[in-house]
Amino acid sequence: MSTPVLIAIIAGGVLLLVLLVALLLKGGKSKQPARACLQCKRNMLPTWSKCMFCGWTPGARLEFILGPLAGQNVRLTEDMTTLGSVAGNTIVLADPAVSKRHVAIRRAEGEFEIADLGSTNGIYVNGHKVPKKSLQPGDIVRVGNTELVFRRE
Ligand SMILES: [Zn+2]
Repeated sequence: MSTPVLIAIIAGGVLLLVLLVALLLKGGKSKQPARACLQCKRNMLPTWSKCMFCGWTPGARLEFILGPLAGQNVRLTEDMTTLGSVAGNTIVLADPAVSKRHVAIRRAEGEFEIADLGSTNGIYVNGHKVPKKSLQPGDIVRVGNTELVFRRE
């Protein structure tokens, strides 16, 4: 083979490789939308549970609108937050329609999932009775006579 042919083959191979890498990068990015860090505003990878640039942890809070805690905001700081009517829960609700251990809200990979702990009256998210659900900002949760809004911050 002559030298120009070899150069053409090598150049073609390099070009293909560049295209392949570009496609892979593009494909990887389009799978899940990037989340922006609310502190440093840089884009975070979906697998990060906290911002690797500044250490910010995606947070959430419960804004109580009905029941004994109405008007209060409680920040979800733990990996597991429980709501119930007796001491020992993260949030104690003096609500006669709330079970002793009623609800758990679990943080996993930056998302928050609510789950019924086998309560008598169940939990309602946006009016639907659910055993568990990944919470979205603005979701309205009802347990007993207590109602709260899930907020991200
Ligand atoms: Zn950050």
